[in-house]
Amino acid sequence: MTSKESHSGAQYARPSGSETQPGIEVLHHQLQPLEHDKKLGIALAGLGNYATQQLAPALQQCKFCRLAGIVTGNTSKIPMWQARYKIPDENVYSYDNFDEIASNSSIDIVYIVLPNALHAEFAIRAAKAGKHVICEKPMALTTAECDEMIAASKAANRLLGIGYRLHFEPYNMEVARIGTEKIFGNPTYIHAQHGQANMGGWRLDKKLSGGGAIQDLGIYCIQAARYACGEEPESVQVLEQRGFDASDPGSMERYIAWEMQMEGGLTARAEASYEADMNLLHLTAEHGWIELSPAFSYSGIHGKTATGFLQLASVNQQLLQMDDFALSVLHGSKASLPGELGKKDVAIIQAIYSSMQSGNRVAIE
Ligand code: NDP
Repeated sequence: MTSKESHSGAQYARPSGSETQPGIEVLHHQLQPLEHDKKLGIALAGLGNYATQQLAPALQQCKFCRLAGIVTGNTSKIPMWQARYKIPDENVYSYDNFDEIASNSSIDIVYIVLPNALHAEFAIRAAKAGKHVICEKPMALTTAECDEMIAASKAANRLLGIGYRLHFEPYNMEVARIGTEKIFGNPTYIHAQHGQANMGGWRLDKKLSGGGAIQDLGIYCIQAARYACGEEPESVQVLEQRGFDASDPGSMERYIAWEMQMEGGLTARAEASYEADMNLLHLTAEHGWIELSPAFSYSGIHGKTATGFLQLASVNQQLLQMDDFALSVLHGSKASLPGELGKKDVAIIQAIYSSMQSGNRVAIE
């Protein structure tokens, strides 16, 4: 990913080199909302924590898309969702009858918010049903699955985007601006940490999660390293891990530390953990540094640089992310955060797992 790709794709991105240009949230604020029935209809597939606590509430404030349907395997959730969000019976689907969504013209976009192992299947089924797709991270468990998802969307002439909400978060995009525009000179080092203790449920079932802390939390560090310097990792080396045991196929990393050698020569170090809470993004450059802590949360992000504390807007990341995707659909343009971006992260995770098993440095394909 070049710096251009990391910035210029987003519908509201500020032009490069312009500190005084308005940020994403200001540009979004200036846009007039569509009338309710002109907004694109989104169906949320998988009514778990993220869909319930973040996406559905954010959709109530979106200007270009709205919550129009649900896909769930749990019938007891349906009455609450229908009542709270006025979802008609004909826009409620199960995983079994999901493909019938093809004939529902009030659903334009399916947002996949299922356990990781189900992303590929449902993204492909949604594309085959003629729907645009937003897929949560990680995009899939393998790059082969990613290729199938990308191919299905292309064949259906529909967009595929990944739910990387931090591309719409001003503090994270300030790190990207400082790194890619070399505001403090050439970046020399990146450090990212993301951890959360006491994880449970499908995240601890390797068949559904694809792995441990790196799949769920480490992927933020990988993405951050990429947008912070606008470069791609050429190789990865696992430095330490706990939890994975090569003799036990169901085992996964509870903690992992790894290094990414970026193409321009700088090193990015990262840690992901299910053992402890961690949330940090730091970039050092020749003449200064910037640090966010917490860095990857939904709100409350704090930042400072070599020259003082940052005071940037607090935004609803999911709102901006979904409206950005909706605008891409409405404008007939490319998705800002396309499947190819998500596939690269999956390739990096696969290389990290390969390094975890062999103990060697592994080149990224
Ligand atoms: P939850 O466990 O809270 O919800 C997952 C939902 O998937 C369930 O509630 C269920 O919905 C459905 N589901 C279908 N099959 C299964 C199964 N076999 N086991 C468990 N659940 C199943 O997970 P999250 O909402 O936290 O995460 C969902 C996805 O969103 C993940 O890919 C995760 O990485 C991503 N995510 C992204 C975040 C971000 O900031 N971008 C934050 C949090 C999560 P139902 O009962 O309706 O069928």
